[in-house]
Amino acid sequence: MSVDIRRVQLKNNYTYISGAVLYWMNREGRVHDNWSLLYAQELADMHHVPLYVCYNLALGFLGGGYRQHHFKLAGLREVERELAQYQIPFMIVIGDDSDPLSDVVRDLDIGVVVTDFFPLTQTQEWVHDLAQKIHVPLYEVDAHNIVPVWQTSTKQEYAARTIRPKLHKLLPEFLTPFPKLHKQSHAASRIPEMYVPDWEALENTPHINRNIEPVSWIVPGASAAHRALESFLKERFGDYGGERNNPLVRGQSDLSPYLHYGHISAQTIALAVLAVTKLSISDILSADRNGAATDNSAAAFLEELIIRKELSDNFCYYQPAYATSLAFPEWAQKTLLAAADDAREYVYTLAEFEGAQTHDDLWNAAQREMVITGKMHGYMRMYWAKKILEWTTNPDEALRIAIYLNDAYELDGRDPNGYAGIAWSIGGVHDRPWFCRPVFGTIRYMARSGCAKKFDVDAYIEKWSQGSSLFTAT
Ligand SMILES: Cc1cc2nc3c(=O)[nH]c(=O)nc-3n(C[C@H](O)[C@H](O)[C@H](O)COP(=O)(O)OP(=O)(O)OC[C@H]3O[C@@H](n4cnc5c(N)ncnc54)[C@H](O)[C@@H]3O)c2cc1C
Repeated sequence: MSVDIRRVQLKNNYTYISGAVLYWMNREGRVHDNWSLLYAQELADMHHVPLYVCYNLALGFLGGGYRQHHFKLAGLREVERELAQYQIPFMIVIGDDSDPLSDVVRDLDIGVVVTDFFPLTQTQEWVHDLAQKIHVPLYEVDAHNIVPVWQTSTKQEYAARTIRPKLHKLLPEFLTPFPKLHKQSHAASRIPEMYVPDWEALENTPHINRNIEPVSWIVPGASAAHRALESFLKERFGDYGGERNNPLVRGQSDLSPYLHYGHISAQTIALAVLAVTKLSISDILSADRNGAATDNSAAAFLEELIIRKELSDNFCYYQPAYATSLAFPEWAQKTLLAAADDAREYVYTLAEFEGAQTHDDLWNAAQREMVITGKMHGYMRMYWAKKILEWTTNPDEALRIAIYLNDAYELDGRDPNGYAGIAWSIGGVHDRPWFCRPVFGTIRYMARSGCAKKFDVDAYIEKWSQGSSLFTAT
Protein backbone atom coordinates (compact mmCIF):
# COMPACT_ATOMS: atom_id res chain seq x y z
CA MET A 1 0.00 0.00 0.00
CA SER A 2 1.35 3.42 -0.81
CA VAL A 3 -1.14 5.22 1.46
CA ASP A 4 0.16 5.07 5.03
CA ILE A 5 -2.40 2.98 6.88
CA ARG A 6 -2.00 5.26 9.92
CA ARG A 7 -4.05 7.81 7.93
CA VAL A 8 -7.03 5.49 7.84
CA GLN A 9 -9.68 4.64 10.47
CA LEU A 10 -12.34 1.95 10.04
CA LYS A 11 -15.64 3.39 11.33
CA ASN A 12 -17.66 0.18 11.66
CA ASN A 13 -17.02 -3.55 12.00
CA TYR A 14 -17.72 -4.79 8.48
CA THR A 15 -15.27 -6.47 6.18
CA TYR A 16 -15.26 -6.27 2.41
CA ILE A 17 -17.14 -9.02 0.59
CA SER A 18 -17.92 -7.73 -2.92
CA GLY A 19 -18.95 -4.61 -4.84
CA ALA A 20 -17.47 -1.36 -6.14
CA VAL A 21 -15.58 1.29 -4.16
CA LEU A 22 -17.20 4.64 -3.35
CA TYR A 23 -15.19 7.68 -2.34
CA TRP A 24 -17.58 10.01 -0.50
CA MET A 25 -15.82 13.35 -0.93
CA ASN A 26 -16.83 15.96 1.60
CA ARG A 27 -13.80 18.04 2.61
CA GLU A 28 -11.15 17.50 -0.05
CA GLY A 29 -12.47 19.01 -3.29
CA ARG A 30 -9.55 17.94 -5.49
CA VAL A 31 -8.38 15.00 -7.57
CA HIS A 32 -4.60 15.13 -7.14
CA ASP A 33 -2.61 14.89 -3.90
CA ASN A 34 -5.66 13.52 -2.13
CA TRP A 35 -4.96 10.63 0.27
CA SER A 36 -8.66 9.68 0.44
CA LEU A 37 -8.97 9.23 -3.33
CA LEU A 38 -5.63 7.44 -3.48
CA TYR A 39 -6.75 5.03 -0.78
CA ALA A 40 -10.08 4.45 -2.56
CA GLN A 41 -8.21 3.69 -5.76
CA GLU A 42 -5.90 1.26 -3.96
CA LEU A 43 -8.94 -0.62 -2.66
CA ALA A 44 -10.54 -0.66 -6.13
CA ASP A 45 -7.31 -2.07 -7.62
CA MET A 46 -6.95 -4.63 -4.87
CA HIS A 47 -10.52 -5.94 -5.36
CA HIS A 48 -10.54 -5.46 -9.18
CA VAL A 49 -13.70 -3.36 -9.07
CA PRO A 50 -14.79 0.09 -10.33
CA LEU A 51 -14.38 3.29 -8.34
CA TYR A 52 -17.01 6.05 -8.01
CA VAL A 53 -16.76 9.45 -6.38
CA CYS A 54 -19.76 11.18 -4.81
CA TYR A 55 -19.94 14.60 -3.17
CA ASN A 56 -22.74 15.39 -0.72
CA LEU A 57 -23.82 18.98 -1.03
CA ALA A 58 -25.36 20.34 2.17
CA LEU A 59 -27.00 23.56 0.98
CA GLY A 60 -26.57 26.40 3.48
CA PHE A 61 -24.26 24.27 5.64
CA LEU A 62 -23.48 26.13 8.90
CA GLY A 63 -24.89 29.38 7.60
CA GLY A 64 -22.92 29.57 4.36
CA GLY A 65 -24.73 31.12 1.38
CA TYR A 66 -24.27 31.79 -2.32
CA ARG A 67 -20.79 33.28 -1.86
CA GLN A 68 -19.43 29.96 -0.52
CA HIS A 69 -21.74 27.77 -2.65
CA HIS A 70 -20.47 29.36 -5.87
CA PHE A 71 -16.81 28.89 -4.86
CA LYS A 72 -17.37 25.27 -3.86
CA LEU A 73 -19.35 24.37 -7.01
CA ALA A 74 -16.70 25.80 -9.33
CA GLY A 75 -14.13 23.59 -7.62
CA LEU A 76 -16.40 20.54 -7.98
CA ARG A 77 -16.95 21.16 -11.70
CA GLU A 78 -13.21 20.94 -12.09
CA VAL A 79 -13.18 17.71 -10.04
CA GLU A 80 -15.74 16.17 -12.41
CA ARG A 81 -13.75 17.15 -15.54
CA GLU A 82 -10.47 15.91 -14.08
CA LEU A 83 -11.90 12.62 -12.82
CA ALA A 84 -13.35 11.89 -16.27
CA GLN A 85 -9.77 11.76 -17.60
CA TYR A 86 -9.12 8.94 -15.12
CA GLN A 87 -12.37 7.15 -16.04
CA ILE A 88 -13.83 7.76 -12.59
CA PRO A 89 -17.48 8.87 -12.57
CA PHE A 90 -18.45 11.79 -10.36
CA MET A 91 -21.83 12.21 -8.69
CA ILE A 92 -23.52 14.77 -6.48
CA VAL A 93 -26.24 14.17 -3.91
CA ILE A 94 -27.97 16.87 -1.90
CA GLY A 95 -28.72 16.68 1.79
CA ASP A 96 -27.45 17.49 5.23
CA ASP A 97 -27.54 13.96 6.58
CA SER A 98 -26.22 10.57 5.52
CA ASP A 99 -29.45 9.27 3.88
CA PRO A 100 -28.55 10.17 0.28
CA LEU A 101 -25.20 8.46 0.69
CA SER A 102 -26.78 5.23 1.91
CA ASP A 103 -29.03 5.36 -1.20
CA VAL A 104 -25.94 5.59 -3.39
CA VAL A 105 -24.38 2.62 -1.60
CA ARG A 106 -27.53 0.59 -2.32
CA ASP A 107 -28.11 1.79 -5.90
CA LEU A 108 -24.54 1.23 -7.09
CA ASP A 109 -23.94 -2.00 -5.23
CA ILE A 110 -21.08 -0.47 -3.29
CA GLY A 111 -18.87 -2.83 -1.30
CA VAL A 112 -16.71 -0.33 0.58
CA VAL A 113 -16.86 3.41 1.28
CA VAL A 114 -13.93 5.78 1.86
CA THR A 115 -14.51 9.29 3.16
CA ASP A 116 -12.61 12.40 4.26
CA PHE A 117 -11.83 13.19 7.87
CA PHE A 118 -13.61 16.45 8.84
CA PRO A 119 -13.69 17.11 12.60
CA LEU A 120 -16.77 19.36 12.82
CA THR A 121 -19.57 17.83 14.90
CA GLN A 122 -22.06 17.79 12.01
CA THR A 123 -19.71 16.04 9.61
CA GLN A 124 -18.55 13.59 12.27
CA GLU A 125 -22.22 12.75 12.88
CA TRP A 126 -22.83 12.08 9.16
CA VAL A 127 -19.93 9.65 9.09
CA HIS A 128 -21.04 7.98 12.29
CA ASP A 129 -24.65 7.65 11.02
CA LEU A 130 -23.62 6.28 7.65
CA ALA A 131 -21.31 3.76 9.33
CA GLN A 132 -24.33 2.42 11.22
CA LYS A 133 -26.74 2.46 8.24
CA ILE A 134 -24.70 0.60 5.66
CA HIS A 135 -23.50 -3.00 5.83
CA VAL A 136 -20.14 -2.52 4.19
CA PRO A 137 -16.89 -1.13 5.64
CA LEU A 138 -16.58 2.66 5.93
CA TYR A 139 -13.07 4.12 6.15
CA GLU A 140 -12.23 7.67 7.15
CA VAL A 141 -8.95 9.08 5.82
CA ASP A 142 -7.23 12.19 7.14
CA ALA A 143 -6.29 13.84 3.85
CA HIS A 144 -6.31 17.35 5.31
CA ASN A 145 -3.58 17.28 7.92
CA ILE A 146 -0.02 16.40 7.06
CA VAL A 147 0.18 14.26 10.18
CA PRO A 148 -3.17 12.50 10.75
CA VAL A 149 -4.90 14.16 13.68
CA TRP A 150 -5.13 10.91 15.69
CA GLN A 151 -1.43 10.18 15.14
CA THR A 152 -0.30 13.59 16.35
CA SER A 153 -2.12 13.29 19.66
CA THR A 154 -4.83 11.27 21.34
CA LYS A 155 -6.14 14.20 23.37
CA GLN A 156 -6.97 17.88 23.15
CA GLU A 157 -3.73 19.86 23.19
CA TYR A 158 -3.36 22.90 25.45
CA ALA A 159 -1.50 25.15 23.07
CA ALA A 160 0.85 25.41 20.11
CA ARG A 161 3.75 24.77 22.48
CA THR A 162 2.37 21.32 23.41
CA ILE A 163 1.44 20.14 19.90
CA ARG A 164 4.56 21.58 18.21
CA PRO A 165 7.10 18.99 19.49
CA LYS A 166 4.71 16.16 18.59
CA LEU A 167 4.31 17.46 15.04
CA HIS A 168 8.00 18.24 14.66
CA LYS A 169 8.80 14.65 15.57
CA LEU A 170 6.34 13.10 13.09
CA LEU A 171 6.65 15.48 10.14
CA PRO A 172 9.76 13.90 8.58
CA GLU A 173 7.78 10.61 8.41
CA PHE A 174 4.56 12.06 6.97
CA LEU A 175 5.68 14.98 4.83
CA THR A 176 6.43 12.78 1.82
CA PRO A 177 5.65 13.18 -1.90
CA PHE A 178 2.26 11.94 -3.12
CA PRO A 179 1.88 8.90 -5.36
CA LYS A 180 0.15 9.58 -8.70
CA LEU A 181 -3.46 8.72 -9.41
CA HIS A 182 -3.77 6.42 -12.44
CA LYS A 183 -6.47 5.73 -15.00
CA GLN A 184 -9.11 3.42 -13.52
CA SER A 185 -8.80 0.01 -15.14
CA HIS A 186 -12.20 -1.47 -14.19
CA ALA A 187 -14.96 0.23 -16.13
CA ALA A 188 -17.75 1.74 -14.05
CA SER A 189 -21.38 1.20 -14.99
CA ARG A 190 -23.50 4.14 -16.08
CA ILE A 191 -24.46 6.23 -13.10
CA PRO A 192 -28.19 6.78 -12.48
CA GLU A 193 -29.41 10.05 -13.99
CA MET A 194 -30.41 11.50 -10.61
CA TYR A 195 -26.77 11.43 -9.44
CA VAL A 196 -25.35 13.17 -12.53
CA PRO A 197 -24.59 16.78 -11.54
CA ASP A 198 -26.82 19.35 -13.25
CA TRP A 199 -24.49 22.30 -12.78
CA GLU A 200 -26.91 24.98 -13.91
CA ALA A 201 -29.63 23.73 -11.57
CA LEU A 202 -27.16 23.48 -8.71
CA GLU A 203 -25.84 27.00 -9.30
CA ASN A 204 -29.37 28.42 -9.47
CA THR A 205 -30.89 26.42 -6.65
CA PRO A 206 -33.54 28.37 -4.72
CA HIS A 207 -32.42 26.61 -1.52
CA ILE A 208 -29.50 28.89 -0.86
CA ASN A 209 -29.36 32.35 0.70
CA ARG A 210 -28.30 34.76 -2.05
CA ASN A 211 -27.93 37.89 0.10
CA ILE A 212 -24.16 37.69 0.13
CA GLU A 213 -22.66 37.80 -3.34
CA PRO A 214 -19.71 35.77 -4.64
CA VAL A 215 -16.41 37.66 -4.97
CA SER A 216 -14.30 38.04 -8.07
CA TRP A 217 -10.76 38.72 -6.75
CA ILE A 218 -10.07 35.01 -6.24
CA VAL A 219 -10.68 32.24 -8.79
CA PRO A 220 -12.01 28.96 -7.33
CA GLY A 221 -10.71 25.47 -8.10
CA ALA A 222 -7.61 23.33 -7.93
CA SER A 223 -5.84 24.82 -10.99
CA ALA A 224 -6.33 28.35 -9.67
CA ALA A 225 -5.10 27.20 -6.24
CA HIS A 226 -1.86 25.94 -7.78
CA ARG A 227 -1.41 29.19 -9.71
CA ALA A 228 -2.02 31.16 -6.50
CA LEU A 229 0.59 29.08 -4.67
CA GLU A 230 3.09 29.58 -7.47
CA SER A 231 2.65 33.34 -7.55
CA PHE A 232 2.80 33.59 -3.75
CA LEU A 233 6.07 31.64 -3.67
CA LYS A 234 7.56 33.62 -6.53
CA GLU A 235 6.44 37.13 -5.66
CA ARG A 236 5.57 37.47 -1.95
CA PHE A 237 6.89 34.53 0.05
CA GLY A 238 10.28 36.13 0.79
CA ASP A 239 8.54 38.99 2.64
CA TYR A 240 6.03 36.79 4.51
CA GLY A 241 7.94 36.89 7.81
CA GLY A 242 8.01 40.69 7.85
CA GLU A 243 4.74 41.59 6.12
CA ARG A 244 2.15 39.00 7.14
CA ASN A 245 0.86 41.12 10.02
CA ASN A 246 0.42 44.27 7.96
CA PRO A 247 -3.18 44.49 6.69
CA LEU A 248 -2.20 47.19 4.21
CA VAL A 249 -0.06 44.95 2.07
CA ARG A 250 -0.77 41.58 0.52
CA GLY A 251 1.65 39.82 2.83
CA GLN A 252 -0.30 36.61 3.45
CA SER A 253 -0.66 33.77 0.96
CA ASP A 254 -4.46 34.06 0.50
CA LEU A 255 -4.55 30.27 0.29
CA SER A 256 -7.09 29.70 3.09
CA PRO A 257 -10.20 29.51 0.85
CA TYR A 258 -8.47 26.86 -1.27
CA LEU A 259 -7.36 24.94 1.80
CA HIS A 260 -10.82 25.12 3.30
CA TYR A 261 -12.54 23.62 0.22
CA GLY A 262 -9.71 21.15 -0.25
CA HIS A 263 -8.79 22.62 -3.65
CA ILE A 264 -5.18 22.26 -2.55
CA SER A 265 -3.59 20.24 0.21
CA ALA A 266 -1.39 21.65 2.98
CA GLN A 267 1.07 18.87 2.24
CA THR A 268 1.42 20.02 -1.39
CA ILE A 269 2.04 23.57 -0.17
CA ALA A 270 4.61 22.49 2.43
CA LEU A 271 6.45 20.37 -0.16
CA ALA A 272 6.50 23.36 -2.52
CA VAL A 273 8.04 25.50 0.25
CA LEU A 274 10.77 22.90 0.76
CA ALA A 275 11.40 22.84 -2.98
CA VAL A 276 11.83 26.62 -3.32
CA THR A 277 13.90 27.03 -0.17
CA LYS A 278 15.97 23.89 -0.96
CA LEU A 279 15.80 23.05 2.73
CA SER A 280 14.62 19.96 4.55
CA ILE A 281 11.70 20.13 6.94
CA SER A 282 14.11 19.53 9.84
CA ASP A 283 16.27 22.51 8.70
CA ILE A 284 13.24 24.79 8.68
CA LEU A 285 11.77 23.55 11.93
CA SER A 286 15.07 23.82 13.77
CA ALA A 287 15.04 27.54 12.91
CA ASP A 288 11.68 27.69 14.67
CA ARG A 289 12.02 25.54 17.76
CA ASN A 290 9.53 27.64 19.73
CA GLY A 291 7.46 29.07 16.90
CA ALA A 292 9.33 32.34 17.37
CA ALA A 293 11.19 32.70 14.07
CA THR A 294 8.81 35.31 12.72
CA ASP A 295 11.36 37.01 10.49
CA ASN A 296 12.24 33.75 8.78
CA SER A 297 9.55 33.45 6.11
CA ALA A 298 9.69 29.69 5.66
CA ALA A 299 9.57 28.95 9.40
CA ALA A 300 6.85 31.54 10.04
CA PHE A 301 4.72 30.28 7.16
CA LEU A 302 5.03 26.60 8.09
CA GLU A 303 4.25 27.46 11.71
CA GLU A 304 0.86 28.80 10.52
CA LEU A 305 0.21 26.24 7.78
CA ILE A 306 1.11 23.22 9.87
CA ILE A 307 1.27 23.90 13.63
CA ARG A 308 -1.62 26.39 13.96
CA LYS A 309 -3.78 24.71 11.36
CA GLU A 310 -3.34 21.18 12.73
CA LEU A 311 -3.88 22.50 16.27
CA SER A 312 -7.31 23.76 15.12
CA ASP A 313 -8.28 20.31 13.83
CA ASN A 314 -7.06 18.82 17.11
CA PHE A 315 -9.26 21.31 19.00
CA CYS A 316 -12.47 20.56 17.08
CA TYR A 317 -11.89 16.80 17.02
CA TYR A 318 -11.25 16.36 20.73
CA GLN A 319 -13.50 19.19 21.97
CA PRO A 320 -16.97 18.80 20.40
CA ALA A 321 -18.23 21.88 22.33
CA TYR A 322 -15.79 24.03 20.30
CA ALA A 323 -18.46 26.61 19.39
CA THR A 324 -19.44 27.33 23.00
CA SER A 325 -17.80 28.74 26.14
CA LEU A 326 -17.64 25.18 27.55
CA ALA A 327 -14.60 24.75 25.34
CA PHE A 328 -12.71 27.55 27.11
CA PRO A 329 -9.94 26.48 29.51
CA GLU A 330 -10.86 26.54 33.18
CA TRP A 331 -8.88 29.70 33.96
CA ALA A 332 -10.69 31.53 31.14
CA GLN A 333 -14.15 30.37 32.21
CA LYS A 334 -13.41 31.56 35.75
CA THR A 335 -12.02 34.94 34.78
CA LEU A 336 -14.89 35.64 32.37
CA LEU A 337 -17.40 34.67 35.03
CA ALA A 338 -15.73 37.03 37.48
CA ALA A 339 -15.96 39.81 34.87
CA ALA A 340 -19.57 39.01 33.94
CA ASP A 341 -21.03 42.05 35.70
CA ASP A 342 -18.38 44.52 34.56
CA ALA A 343 -19.93 47.56 32.91
CA ARG A 344 -19.71 47.53 29.10
CA GLU A 345 -19.04 50.93 27.59
CA TYR A 346 -20.77 49.90 24.36
CA VAL A 347 -23.17 47.05 23.62
CA TYR A 348 -24.14 46.31 20.00
CA THR A 349 -26.69 44.02 18.40
CA LEU A 350 -25.86 41.52 15.67
CA ALA A 351 -27.43 43.86 13.07
CA GLU A 352 -25.22 46.75 14.24
CA PHE A 353 -22.10 44.61 14.04
CA GLU A 354 -23.14 43.22 10.67
CA GLY A 355 -23.83 46.69 9.33
CA ALA A 356 -20.41 47.96 10.56
CA GLN A 357 -22.17 50.52 12.73
CA THR A 358 -19.97 50.55 15.82
CA HIS A 359 -18.30 53.70 17.21
CA ASP A 360 -14.88 52.32 16.14
CA ASP A 361 -14.02 53.07 12.51
CA LEU A 362 -11.13 50.59 12.65
CA TRP A 363 -13.46 47.74 13.62
CA ASN A 364 -15.98 48.88 11.00
CA ALA A 365 -13.25 48.85 8.36
CA ALA A 366 -12.31 45.25 9.22
CA GLN A 367 -15.97 44.22 9.06
CA ARG A 368 -16.26 45.90 5.64
CA GLU A 369 -13.14 44.16 4.40
CA MET A 370 -14.80 40.84 5.25
CA VAL A 371 -18.18 41.79 3.77
CA ILE A 372 -16.68 43.04 0.53
CA THR A 373 -13.87 40.53 -0.08
CA GLY A 374 -14.88 37.44 1.91
CA LYS A 375 -11.43 37.47 3.53
CA MET A 376 -10.53 39.73 6.42
CA HIS A 377 -6.81 40.12 6.99
CA GLY A 378 -5.51 37.65 9.61
CA TYR A 379 -4.22 40.32 11.99
CA MET A 380 -7.53 42.18 11.96
CA ARG A 381 -9.47 38.98 12.68
CA MET A 382 -8.02 38.95 16.20
CA TYR A 383 -8.90 42.59 16.88
CA TRP A 384 -12.34 42.13 15.33
CA ALA A 385 -13.28 39.11 17.52
CA LYS A 386 -11.87 40.58 20.74
CA LYS A 387 -13.92 43.74 20.28
CA ILE A 388 -17.05 41.63 19.86
CA LEU A 389 -16.32 40.23 23.34
CA GLU A 390 -15.83 43.78 24.65
CA TRP A 391 -19.10 45.10 23.16
CA THR A 392 -21.56 42.29 23.97
CA THR A 393 -23.25 41.34 27.23
CA ASN A 394 -21.56 37.94 27.67
CA PRO A 395 -18.98 35.63 26.06
CA ASP A 396 -21.55 33.18 24.63
CA GLU A 397 -23.32 36.02 22.86
CA ALA A 398 -19.93 37.21 21.58
CA LEU A 399 -19.16 33.71 20.28
CA ARG A 400 -22.55 33.42 18.62
CA ILE A 401 -22.15 36.74 16.80
CA ALA A 402 -18.53 36.17 15.79
CA ILE A 403 -19.24 32.65 14.49
CA TYR A 404 -22.35 33.77 12.62
CA LEU A 405 -20.52 36.61 10.84
CA ASN A 406 -17.38 34.58 10.20
CA ASP A 407 -19.33 31.68 8.70
CA ALA A 408 -21.70 33.84 6.66
CA TYR A 409 -19.12 36.14 5.07
CA GLU A 410 -15.66 34.54 5.07
CA LEU A 411 -14.83 32.32 2.12
CA ASP A 412 -12.73 30.23 4.48
CA GLY A 413 -15.43 30.21 7.21
CA ARG A 414 -17.10 27.08 8.67
CA ASP A 415 -13.64 25.72 9.28
CA PRO A 416 -11.84 24.41 12.40
CA ASN A 417 -9.41 27.34 11.99
CA GLY A 418 -12.35 29.73 12.42
CA TYR A 419 -13.75 28.05 15.54
CA ALA A 420 -10.27 27.85 17.06
CA GLY A 421 -9.41 31.44 16.11
CA ILE A 422 -12.64 32.77 17.61
CA ALA A 423 -12.24 30.65 20.77
CA TRP A 424 -8.64 31.91 21.07
CA SER A 425 -9.75 35.54 20.79
CA ILE A 426 -12.79 35.37 23.05
CA GLY A 427 -12.06 32.45 25.38
CA GLY A 428 -8.28 32.14 25.78
CA VAL A 429 -8.18 28.74 24.02
CA HIS A 430 -4.54 27.83 23.25
CA ASP A 431 -3.49 31.04 25.05
CA ARG A 432 -2.52 31.91 28.63
CA PRO A 433 -3.74 34.47 31.17
CA TRP A 434 -2.54 38.08 30.65
CA PHE A 435 -3.10 41.22 32.71
CA CYS A 436 -6.50 41.65 34.33
CA ARG A 437 -8.84 44.30 32.97
CA PRO A 438 -12.60 44.95 32.88
CA VAL A 439 -14.83 42.67 30.77
CA PHE A 440 -11.84 40.57 29.60
CA GLY A 441 -10.55 39.48 33.00
CA THR A 442 -7.20 37.93 32.14
CA ILE A 443 -8.10 37.11 28.51
CA ARG A 444 -5.51 38.78 26.25
CA TYR A 445 -6.66 42.26 25.26
CA MET A 446 -6.03 44.11 22.00
CA ALA A 447 -6.19 47.87 21.71
CA ARG A 448 -6.51 50.15 18.72
CA SER A 449 -3.30 51.84 19.90
CA GLY A 450 -1.52 48.47 19.55
CA CYS A 451 -2.70 48.28 15.92
CA ALA A 452 -1.45 51.83 15.32
CA LYS A 453 2.06 50.74 16.38
CA LYS A 454 2.00 47.99 13.73
CA PHE A 455 0.47 49.68 10.68
CA ASP A 456 -1.10 52.88 9.37
CA VAL A 457 -4.56 52.55 10.90
CA ASP A 458 -5.96 55.59 9.06
CA ALA A 459 -4.89 54.23 5.69
CA TYR A 460 -6.62 50.91 6.47
CA ILE A 461 -9.81 52.74 7.47
CA GLU A 462 -9.64 54.81 4.30
CA LYS A 463 -9.08 51.71 2.17
CA TRP A 464 -12.29 50.09 3.43
CA SER A 465 -14.39 53.21 3.84
CA GLN A 466 -16.33 52.47 0.64
CA GLY A 467 -18.90 49.82 0.03
CA SER A 468 -21.44 50.37 2.78
CA SER A 469 -24.17 49.91 0.15
CA LEU A 470 -23.11 46.26 -0.18
CA PHE A 471 -24.27 45.49 3.33
CA THR A 472 -27.05 43.05 4.11
CA ALA A 473 -28.21 43.61 7.65
CA THR A 474 -30.00 40.63 9.19
C1 LIG B 1 -11.15 35.46 14.96
C2 LIG B 1 -10.46 34.60 13.93
C3 LIG B 1 -11.21 33.96 12.95
C4 LIG B 1 -10.57 33.14 12.02
N1 LIG B 1 -11.34 32.51 11.08
C5 LIG B 1 -10.76 31.65 10.21
C6 LIG B 1 -11.55 30.90 9.30
O1 LIG B 1 -12.79 30.98 9.31
N2 LIG B 1 -10.90 30.08 8.42
C7 LIG B 1 -9.54 29.97 8.39
O2 LIG B 1 -9.01 29.22 7.56
N3 LIG B 1 -8.78 30.66 9.26
C8 LIG B 1 -9.33 31.49 10.17
N4 LIG B 1 -8.55 32.18 11.05
C9 LIG B 1 -7.09 31.95 11.06
C10 LIG B 1 -6.28 32.91 10.14
O3 LIG B 1 -6.61 34.23 10.42
C11 LIG B 1 -6.50 32.60 8.67
O4 LIG B 1 -6.24 31.21 8.44
C12 LIG B 1 -5.58 33.38 7.75
O5 LIG B 1 -5.73 34.76 7.97
C13 LIG B 1 -5.92 33.00 6.30
O6 LIG B 1 -5.23 33.77 5.39
P1 LIG B 1 -4.03 33.19 4.52
O7 LIG B 1 -4.36 31.90 3.90
O8 LIG B 1 -3.63 34.30 3.59
O9 LIG B 1 -2.97 32.94 5.69
P2 LIG B 1 -1.41 32.73 5.70
O10 LIG B 1 -0.86 33.65 6.73
O11 LIG B 1 -0.82 32.79 4.35
O12 LIG B 1 -1.26 31.26 6.31
C14 LIG B 1 -1.26 30.08 5.50
C15 LIG B 1 -2.25 29.09 6.08
O13 LIG B 1 -1.90 28.79 7.43
C16 LIG B 1 -3.08 28.56 8.19
N5 LIG B 1 -3.19 29.57 9.25
C17 LIG B 1 -2.74 30.85 9.24
N6 LIG B 1 -3.01 31.46 10.42
C18 LIG B 1 -3.66 30.55 11.18
C19 LIG B 1 -4.21 30.56 12.49
N7 LIG B 1 -4.14 31.63 13.27
N8 LIG B 1 -4.84 29.46 12.93
C20 LIG B 1 -4.92 28.34 12.17
N9 LIG B 1 -4.40 28.26 10.93
C21 LIG B 1 -3.79 29.35 10.43
C22 LIG B 1 -4.26 28.73 7.25
O14 LIG B 1 -4.63 27.47 6.76
C23 LIG B 1 -3.67 29.60 6.16
O15 LIG B 1 -4.34 29.47 4.93
C24 LIG B 1 -9.16 32.99 12.03
C25 LIG B 1 -8.42 33.65 13.01
C26 LIG B 1 -9.06 34.43 13.96
C27 LIG B 1 -8.24 35.12 15.01
